[in-house]
Formats: sequence, C-alpha cells, structure tokens
Amino acid sequence: PASVPAQIEGMRRLRQRSGEGLASLQARGITAWFGQHKVLEQVSLTMPAGSITALIGPSGCGKSTFLRILNRMHELVPSAALAGEVLLDGEDIYDPAKRLIDARREIGMVFQKPNPFPAMSIRENVLAGLKLTGTRATKATKDDLVESCLRRGGLWNEVKDRLDAPGGGLSGGQQQRLCIARSLAIKPRVLLMDEPCSALDPTSTRVIEETMLELAEEVTIVIVTHNMQQAARVSDKCAFFLAAQGTPGVIVEHGDTQAMFGNPQDPRTEDYVNGRF
Ligand code: ADP
Ligand code: MG
Repeated sequence: PASVPAQIEGMRRLRQRSGEGLASLQARGITAWFGQHKVLEQVSLTMPAGSITALIGPSGCGKSTFLRILNRMHELVPSAALAGEVLLDGEDIYDPAKRLIDARREIGMVFQKPNPFPAMSIRENVLAGLKLTGTRATKATKDDLVESCLRRGGLWNEVKDRLDAPGGGLSGGQQQRLCIARSLAIKPRVLLMDEPCSALDPTSTRVIEETMLELAEEVTIVIVTHNMQQAARVSDKCAFFLAAQGTPGVIVEHGDTQAMFGNPQDPRTEDYVNGRF
C-alpha cells in the first residue's frame, strides 16, 4: 500500500477536477472591531467552491475572528462591530431578510477543542443539529443520516457497534470526528474549522486530514491552522494574516498554496512559512 503522504497526494489530485454544484464564499472589505479595538482591516478573500482554504498567521492576528464573521458568530459578542460583506454563492449572509438560523445551517463550524455533548449518545450527538434547526425526520431517515454522517466523518467503523454510548467516552480524535459528523448532519455548504487538530495527537491529526480531503468533494472548507505542514498537505488556497504591533490584522498575501509555500512574494510570508517567526 502507498504511504500516507502518497495517499493524501493521490486524493488531492483526484479531486482537483470538481467543485461543481458546491458553494463559494467571498469576504469583501471586512473590517472588525471589539469596542474601540480594530482587529481586522479591509480583509477580502475568495474561497472557491470545493476548495480547502487555509488561514495562517501568528496568534492574535484575527484568524478566528475572521472565521466567526464567516458564519455570523462575531455578532454574538456585544461589543463587536463589523463592516464589509460575506457572500455565499453571491448572496449576502448578513442580508436582514436572511434568517440567522439559515446562515448557520449553511455554514457549519468545528472548533479547536472537540465539543460533543458528553452525556448524549454518539447517535444523539449526530442528530443534535436537527432539533436546533427544526428539521423533521423519520426513524429510518435518522438511522441513514447517522450512518452516512459518521461514515463521512471517518468514524463509522469505530463506533457502529456502540451508537448508544456517550459521546464523552470517545478519544479526543474520535470526539473531533464526531463533531464533524454532527456538523454534516445539517448539510452545510461550507465547513469552517478553527485549528481542528491543535488538541490532537499526530495520528488523529492525519485521520482528520484525510477526512477533510474527502469532505472537500461535497463541501467547501476553510481551516485555520498553525501547522504549516498541514496547510501544505490539505489546502488548495492559502491566506497569510498578520497584525503588526498595535495595528489591525490584514491579509499580507494569498493565493494557491503551492505558490505561497514554494514562491512567496512577500518576505514576511517567506519568513512565516519557513518558521522564522
Ligand atoms: P487569532 O485567531 O489569529 O489568534 P483572534 O481572532 O482570536 O486571533 O483575535 C484577534 C484580536 O481580537 C486579538 O487582539 C484578541 O485579543 C481580540 N479578541 C478576540 N476575541 C475577542 C473578544 N471576544 N473580545 C475582545 N477582543 C477579542
Ligand atoms: Mg484563533
């Protein structure tokens, strides 16, 4: 059998053709504040349909804030303010006519720390989003959904015999894949992942990377990562964020991942991707 990196490379090549029928996400002129503190300035980025986009950059430069703006979580912070727009397939997700619940349903999120409902069963965890979004389903439909989401989350084989066991009993990496399965159940068009592997061991990290590469066939993915090798392994597009001392975060450089890593145009990008700051 091929080595894991060779397999991953193979999967990347395999899916370079698609993107058809999937959603693009476009941020235009995003400026964000927490009170008086401006944390992002004029950030524009296109995340093409079916791509995996990696957001990289040092801590505190606004990557998580940007990601939360992409599914309207920024507005949960009372002091937060925002200018600019986010277009999902050309439609403004902040349009007052669009319900928040619909924006959230279309744009799922997975966080750094796996956060399944620990006392709920694996099965109930996968189905949890249906209640929140008021989606009705029969038992048979639910069974199918649980299986398909767990399969696509790369967890089915490990849990199919204990779907009624509590989600909190799984390992960290399994819990994170359960969270991925849970977000898939509401059929998002975009999946946002904020450092999804930072709390995991290298083996779990690789399993999640493979899962992501397969998921990119059906959903557009945006991932924040501090792991440059991971960004290089999984992403098609990359954006380098930076906030110079006392100034808001900006995108210094963005483009195809291979070009960003192989031939960075800005010396700061070159230093960062080579681990020099
Ligand atoms: P990153 O994810 O790149 O590490 P963040 O988006 O978390 O960066 O943070 C960007 C800036 O916004 C930081 O200066 C941080 O202190 C500030 N910030 C983040 N969240 C909040 C919040 N809820 N309230 C106030 N300031 C915040
Ligand atoms: Mg962050």
